[in-house]
Amino acid sequence: MDHRSKKLFERAQQLIPGGVNSPVRACLGVDSDPLFVAHAKGSHLTTVDGTTFVDYVQSWGPMLLGHAHPVVASAIHAAVDRGTSYGAPCEDEVVLAEAVIDALPAVEMVRMVNSGTEATMSALRLARGVTGRNKVIKFVGCYHGHADAFLASAGSGVATLSIPGTPGVPEATVRDTLLAPYNDLTAVAELFALHGKDIAAIIVEPVAGNMGLVLPVDGFLQGLRDLCTEHGALLIFDEVITGFRVNYGGAQKRFGITPDLTTLGKIIGGGLPVGAYGGRADLMRRIAPCGEVYQAGTLSGNPLAMAAGIATLTELKKSDYDALEARVAALAGELQNILAAKGVPVRVNTIASMFTVFFTDQPVTDFASAKTANAALYTSYYKQMRDKGIYLAPSPFEAAMVSFAHTDADLAALLDAARAITLTA
Ligand SMILES: *Cc1c(COP(=O)(O)O)cnc(C)c1O
Repeated sequence: MDHRSKKLFERAQQLIPGGVNSPVRACLGVDSDPLFVAHAKGSHLTTVDGTTFVDYVQSWGPMLLGHAHPVVASAIHAAVDRGTSYGAPCEDEVVLAEAVIDALPAVEMVRMVNSGTEATMSALRLARGVTGRNKVIKFVGCYHGHADAFLASAGSGVATLSIPGTPGVPEATVRDTLLAPYNDLTAVAELFALHGKDIAAIIVEPVAGNMGLVLPVDGFLQGLRDLCTEHGALLIFDEVITGFRVNYGGAQKRFGITPDLTTLGKIIGGGLPVGAYGGRADLMRRIAPCGEVYQAGTLSGNPLAMAAGIATLTELKKSDYDALEARVAALAGELQNILAAKGVPVRVNTIASMFTVFFTDQPVTDFASAKTANAALYTSYYKQMRDKGIYLAPSPFEAAMVSFAHTDADLAALLDAARAITLTA
């Protein structure tokens, strides 16, 4: 059934490390081979073997409108004919900056980059540059891209592969990375008590999506805000997933918390490679060329990516986030019931258009509780769901993504598949 995918994977493994250009795609965490995609449309993707799946990965988040949305596709087509990169400013950079600033309450100025990794790396440099301090607090199981400073106890692919940090990151680089459990304000307060004068910033996923989906407990984000203010550190919200997903204004709008800096990616590029970082104007003006903190990019503000981003945000602004959230909440609740009825321990976390199935009987509030989930059960669930046409993240430490293109029939297909599989504790 996966004959062509298997053949391509064999070739790819000779040419590309692990056969993939980003580790988690190799499906090692679920004891499977990757499927090679031929094309995708809306909520569906079709493999080179001609099998069509309901896609609950959605390129790991960017495709909130679904694949190949007609408005986004035609914006990209039109942009191609105007030239694909100028290395000089263009109008669409201004238009997308305006849309981002208009949407996110804490963003007064924004700089475009090419990935989420670049966004977080640059935001940290800015935070260090303006505070004159080096240390950063990050949360165990949060993922902020693959820049050196963030690869201590990270989530996403790092979690799946159980790499304790990674070789190649000098100890000196992560010495300034301080770790706290997610949702643990006491631990953060202790770090400030010990290192307060050296802490440049806290970086946090305001809703964690890279240890599976983990919600902030009441008071956690406000507590981080207060500690940062008290100690002269900056609060960085990494909204690479949550920006334009938990609502149009991101987690900062949903929870009413004002970070100093915000990082973005995924959705704002509409499926093209984009990231961005923004925040208070007085901080953003410290970036070159108006300030001394250097950051640059040959392809930054790329006209294709800007066109895709503008089209995406224009469509999202008209979209009914509450209706999608209500449908996903119902889906997650029913999925929890269906799986629990099989006698396996299960907790489904959900917010907005995301959910994660954790095969555990504990509430999942941080990486330690996420890791109590039974990995063998997830593998079995993943494989059987895939056999039934449901494409899920090949890792228990990721969030399933639902798009505005998912129909009620797509959601029903997931539940029907879940009913039909066999899981034994
Ligand atoms: C995906 C992600 C990143 C990294 O973005 P890339 O575009 O993969 O470099 C950073 N932070 C969060 C929260 C992410 O989910």
